[in-house]
Amino acid sequence: MYSYESSKVLFERAQQSIPGGVNSPVRAFKSVGGTPVFIKKAKGAYLYDADDNQYIDYIASWGPMILGHAYEPVVKAICDRAQFSTSFGAPTELEIEMAELIKSMAPNIDLIRMVNSGTEACMSALRLARGYTGKNKFIKFEGCYHGHADPFLVKAGSGVATFNIQTVPGVTATTAKDTLTCAYNNLDAVKKLVSENTNEIAAIIVEPVPGNMGCILPQEGFLEGLRTICDEENIVLIFDEVMTGFRLALGGAQEKLGVNADLVTYGKVIGAGMPVGAFGGKKKLWQHIAPLGNVYQGGTLSGNPIAMIAGYTLLKEMKENPSLLKELDDKTQYLKIGLEKVLKAWGQPYIINHLGSMISVHFSNKPVTDFASAAASDIEKFKKFFHAMLKRGVYLPPSAYESWFLNNALSYEDLDKTIKAVGESLEKI
Ligand code: PMP
Repeated sequence: MYSYESSKVLFERAQQSIPGGVNSPVRAFKSVGGTPVFIKKAKGAYLYDADDNQYIDYIASWGPMILGHAYEPVVKAICDRAQFSTSFGAPTELEIEMAELIKSMAPNIDLIRMVNSGTEACMSALRLARGYTGKNKFIKFEGCYHGHADPFLVKAGSGVATFNIQTVPGVTATTAKDTLTCAYNNLDAVKKLVSENTNEIAAIIVEPVPGNMGCILPQEGFLEGLRTICDEENIVLIFDEVMTGFRLALGGAQEKLGVNADLVTYGKVIGAGMPVGAFGGKKKLWQHIAPLGNVYQGGTLSGNPIAMIAGYTLLKEMKENPSLLKELDDKTQYLKIGLEKVLKAWGQPYIINHLGSMISVHFSNKPVTDFASAAASDIEKFKKFFHAMLKRGVYLPPSAYESWFLNNALSYEDLDKTIKAVGESLEKI
């Protein structure tokens, strides 16, 4: 029987000194109710909370723990490097090695710059696209999340959708008016926006496989259509691969889906869970960034040696052992088949969206292809399901608007336990 007494005490205490008791909103369990569990440690596929409960983890720190928590080569590399100081604020050879490694894995990256989060990566990529094209507006898709920089907090996914914040106070109307939005997978709506704003659109930013409204798949021709529009209209196509990069394939969604972006943003994955982000892309754009050009962008801790060595070690391991991603995809496929079996037996409507090691279950009877269809699923049912799973030792994202992320430390026994827990949970809700 799971008890959460220590987490309850910690949550009470946290609220006295941290807003809402958390440093990022979705962690608060506000949308699913109950007390957030405070995590003490993690190893492999398991999280351990303050009450010593063990959970099979399907968040993987929202993506980066692709090979599992406390992956030994990564831990060792961090410890070894920390002896030589944690920051210099000056260039290092390690940053070159990291850039070269990413270039060797991901397509369309002539140059890449490190930042400290996915938010910074997307914010900087947008600024570069604007500086390069000399245009101000951009298109984003409803339910896609690109971090919390002002221009992206318009019809955003993830926590913004979880908390149903339609208009974010603090984001001025002046800023928001340059953010044009339409439904994901709706190419006609994109064409309409482009024709209504001729020569005004600097960029289209998209999660190629969104994970911030649950997992959603691009319909055939959608991303290719965006590519064509961008080519025709001198618009910069930005793929936000913060979640999909190095997960869907070593070359991310670009490789998996065969569509090229002009700029690509990365985040947590490339730091193996350390605070990192990056944006990379074609050479012609980079001539405009400082110190080469006047689009200013910088960061004291950017290219931080501890973050670099952690990410470098993880990515190198994945590059040298491509079978690791294949194993992970096979495990996700196995989970999907198991989930389908128990969900079918349950006899109520459900939709499973799945690609590579991203997967979500939507309690819905219609295909989930965009934010509106994701929001039409039974969110109340998800809440009950989440808690029933938690009690059975399975830690799912505490929101119906988040993809599950598998990690390769999961054993087939863990997957079987998860499938069994799903069956029992569905019986309860
Ligand atoms: N883009 C995407 C696709 C994301 O999922 C996230 C965060 N989950 C971000 C950007 C922002 O990254 P960060 O939280 O590191 O700022």
